[in-house]
Amino acid sequence: MNSKLLIYNSLSNKKEEFKPLHPKLVGMYVCGPTVYNRVHLGNCRTFISFDLMVRWLRYLEYKVRYVRNITDAGHLEFDADHGEDRISKRARLEQIEPMEVVQKYTLDFHQCLAKFNVLPPSIEPTASGHIIEQIQLIKSIIEKGYAYEKNGSVYFDVLKYHKSHQYGVLSNRDIEELAHNSRDLEGQADKKNPQDFALWKKAEPLHIMRWPSPWSDGFPGWHLECTAMSTKYLGEVFDIHGGGMDLKFPHHECEIAQGVAVNGKSPVKYWIHGNLLTLNGKKMAKSTGSFLLPDEIFDGTSKLLKKPYSPNVVRFFMLQAHYRSVLDISEAALEASEKGLDRLIYGYQMLDQLQNGSDEYEFDFDQWLNQSQTVMNDDFNSPLLISQCFTAVKFIQKIKSSGKKIPPEMIKNLKKHLGLFLVDVLGLTIDEPNNSKTNTQLQDSLIKILIDLRNEARQNGDYSISDKIRNELFQIGVEIRDTNLGTKYYIQ
Ligand SMILES: [Zn+2]
Repeated sequence: MNSKLLIYNSLSNKKEEFKPLHPKLVGMYVCGPTVYNRVHLGNCRTFISFDLMVRWLRYLEYKVRYVRNITDAGHLEFDADHGEDRISKRARLEQIEPMEVVQKYTLDFHQCLAKFNVLPPSIEPTASGHIIEQIQLIKSIIEKGYAYEKNGSVYFDVLKYHKSHQYGVLSNRDIEELAHNSRDLEGQADKKNPQDFALWKKAEPLHIMRWPSPWSDGFPGWHLECTAMSTKYLGEVFDIHGGGMDLKFPHHECEIAQGVAVNGKSPVKYWIHGNLLTLNGKKMAKSTGSFLLPDEIFDGTSKLLKKPYSPNVVRFFMLQAHYRSVLDISEAALEASEKGLDRLIYGYQMLDQLQNGSDEYEFDFDQWLNQSQTVMNDDFNSPLLISQCFTAVKFIQKIKSSGKKIPPEMIKNLKKHLGLFLVDVLGLTIDEPNNSKTNTQLQDSLIKILIDLRNEARQNGDYSISDKIRNELFQIGVEIRDTNLGTKYYIQ
């Protein structure tokens, strides 16, 4: 490989050559979800982006320890130091225990990411499972003189920290401006300065999620858990920390301050932030009904879309944009991605139909491979890798349609490396039904009979029957696609 991996570091606002702390090992931490609600598509984009990065690091033969947490305690409404705990609130609304809320939405999160073929992290720690570590961390910050206790709660002293270190290095916030922006004084009375943030909160009498501590029965502040868990599993300083753009401030800024306060050094070498997913040009918001839940896209029940799209198509659509760009989702964009993905899959499958021989052709395989690796090494540029895959597929189609014969070595190389990019790196599903482990000859025959019946109904103009067959097959995980090569089906 001729190129070196470059990563856009949010801390320096520029691309930097990636140099891991330990050769061939990467420690990576990504802020996971607060499990109080169904995961929406914007969250999925973040986790698909980091899945792509882990996959690429593994392609480069790094051994990656990927830690992604579950926030199941301490995250209050509006990301603030006051207000109701998000999980407790949901428990009250659904009339169930807070830990039932955690269980339910953790399961939903896992199922959703599995549909998108997102690989599980190496470690998935929870905030409630690390209360002891968080209490220990607070003690250390108090000992270092950067935190104080007031009425059973403990706060980080941002102004004192700012005297000897810089607060706001990641988000370039001005400390004075922060004071002006903290106008809401509810729950702030115990703080010395409005910029301070909670490390431990004393629980109100009705607050269910509480733990004993030296200061009060209470719960940890939201920013603390990530410092406690990343330090425990990756060390005081580690390679990569990621999350959505919205976590840059205050969450990640506070993580840096906590790490520096305790260990005297900045905890992360490369900060990576993924950008937003918008819907028809607008930010998704539950309050306006303008948002998409993944399952509604997969089963076609979303009122905002005319037809269902498979997780494979939605994943491909997301990877067609660079992770640092805003991505807008629309019916037209999903349709285009569906067609594009079909072309790639059929092109790849067409490799099996090429004939061995030694006719002349115009395709420099080594240059293609090198260029494909170079674009991914340039800050994980998946849209350019996809464009490289299309270049290879165009070549395959040209050879097929011209009836030329190419060397077996070339077919083997393309099969291997195009397959690695599509399956291992981009995480797409390209199995033909015949290769599917869940498929049997009988199942295959039955689905084909249904497809024939559906096509007959279409020819006769009986669209209610043809749509019913297509939709009901989709409901049980069988997707029918009409292509230039006839009707094909995929098992999700
Ligand atoms: Zn976090």
